[in-house]
Amino acid sequence: MGTFKAIRIDKAEKGTTAALTQFDEADLMEGDVTVRVEWSALNYKDGLAVTGKAPVVRRFPMIAGIDLAGIVEQSSHPQWKAGDKVICTGWGMGETHLGAYAGKARVKGDWLVRLPEGMSTREAMAIGTAGFTAMLAVLALEKHGLTPRDGPVVVTGAAGGVGSVATAVLSKIGYHVIASTGRLSEASYLRDIGAAEVIERSELSGPAKPLAKERWAGGIDSVGSTTLANILSMTKYRGAIAACGLAAGMDLPSSVAPFILRGVCLLGIDSVMCPIELRKVAWTRLARDLDQAKLSEITHEIALDQVIDAGAKILAGQVRGRIVVKIL
Ligand code: NDP
Repeated sequence: MGTFKAIRIDKAEKGTTAALTQFDEADLMEGDVTVRVEWSALNYKDGLAVTGKAPVVRRFPMIAGIDLAGIVEQSSHPQWKAGDKVICTGWGMGETHLGAYAGKARVKGDWLVRLPEGMSTREAMAIGTAGFTAMLAVLALEKHGLTPRDGPVVVTGAAGGVGSVATAVLSKIGYHVIASTGRLSEASYLRDIGAAEVIERSELSGPAKPLAKERWAGGIDSVGSTTLANILSMTKYRGAIAACGLAAGMDLPSSVAPFILRGVCLLGIDSVMCPIELRKVAWTRLARDLDQAKLSEITHEIALDQVIDAGAKILAGQVRGRIVVKIL
């Protein structure tokens, strides 16, 4: 047993502190698999944890980081052996269970997904929770019965992590993607990764009417609040919106009109406690339906000592696409 670098969150008199420190392996929590972390990622929730802006950390000390990909070092779980390449996202890592911004993590073998064939651990983290969530949203829309023939789909917060992966995947599987962004300066980036149209976020952020002109058959929303209310009111008869985020707020100032007059469905997406079988399906689909070249355009890399600064930027909506964090 030794020590490794980790981003540690401690409780302070007021709020929390975050610092890059050495962490003792003996202090890792219980679990039947120890993973040597190769790559992690920066998600919106990681931004909340490292800045202390919202109380996502519920155990102290905590190692922040909700996503990891790496190599099994030790396992007493029947499914895993040393040398296996694995992905672990959510399950309370970085919130209630010591997390991913660390040289090592000890987790439950039942939480792990095998790295898909042809995908590197770096690519898995370029996808991370945000990309995995985008795929869960795609799967939910498909389960609803949506197909590209039904009409366009809208993606809100399109230049963010969930939005970028959603845009790339939906376009690859044949959808006409309308990308909504507050950063029109990113319009050519969004077109490069697959958007057919780019619209200004302010079109969707005012108070929503109960019903408005039908513009899309479905959508993926990472913004919440009036944006979600507006896209619901603009969804075609029997369409569906998958809601996964709250970048603009937790509220939903909507009415029942889209549901009862147009049969629109609101599909809730949670990645944290998502069952393992659905995780396997989502990662298999990500390996197939997300273009590697587009993923690399979506991604940029930072080191562990840059995570705390980058955490403030993601909350300010200043991060484009996805950030991978190099651990080794
Ligand atoms: P990002 O910060 O990368 O993306 C969010 C995007 O939302 C921004 O890039 C921006 O896009 C847009 N945005 C930000 N602030 C506002 C605002 N005030 N009004 C309107 N749009 C805004 O975060 P992620 O992609 O990692 O996460 C997106 C959301 O999804 C977060 O709320 C996160 O908590 C949630 N989430 C939920 C999960 C789940 O399991 N349900 C899992 C993962 C994420 P643009 O500049 O293009 O407008």
